[in-house]
Amino acid sequence: MRVGLFGGSFDPPHVGHLQLARTALAHLALDELRWVPAGQPWQRQHRLADSEHRAAMVRAAIAGEPRFLLDERELRRSGPSYTLDTVRELQAERPEAELYLLIGEDQYQRLPTWHAWRQLVGRVTLAVAGRGAVRPPPPALEAVPHRVERLPMPPVDVSATAIRAHLAAGGPAQGLVPAMVPPEVARYIDRHHLYTDRTDPDPA
Ligand code: ATP
Repeated sequence: MRVGLFGGSFDPPHVGHLQLARTALAHLALDELRWVPAGQPWQRQHRLADSEHRAAMVRAAIAGEPRFLLDERELRRSGPSYTLDTVRELQAERPEAELYLLIGEDQYQRLPTWHAWRQLVGRVTLAVAGRGAVRPPPPALEAVPHRVERLPMPPVDVSATAIRAHLAAGGPAQGLVPAMVPPEVARYIDRHHLYTDRTDPDPA
């Protein structure tokens, strides 16, 4: 059983996430891919959309692919969202599963800042998607034996930050279709008036 774990704030989920997830499904021959929205991403500065909205948008984005699952455990957990806790729980539930942790190149470079990252990389295979230029592993990570697979996907120049900026500037979500978010997610954003009045200190 090969299980992919795809964490993120998904604020909102977008076509870059979908491209990464579809590439991982095919390239790694995953039996299932669990999308895990983070409750309180402990490295984040901006205020996230409510958990229920982010879960609903992920549900809308993944509908139609039976191997994609929404895993809400981090939304239910109190305190900061640590990927290691999620990995430990999944390995206790499914001891036979081989776990692949899906991340973009930006998070790969930041991995040595993650909570208990040495333990984490000992438990999973990293599946890294390019986001622009492919870079060598960061030196701290290179010094630690770890398994890594590069996902062969063309770069998708989309970020949730850019989408939030577009919406905060008054752009309609439907206008983002199909370049940045799937149509079901755009409709959800419009219906619930998300991201219209926020200031977002994250760099684009
Ligand atoms: P933000 O702009 O708010 O930082 P984001 O677009 O990076 O958000 P996240 O929910 O933080 O989205 O990302 C979850 C995971 O998906 C991370 O590992 C991130 O690297 C990866 N990812 C996000 N967008 C892309 C993309 N366009 N191409 C490849 N990987 C991506």
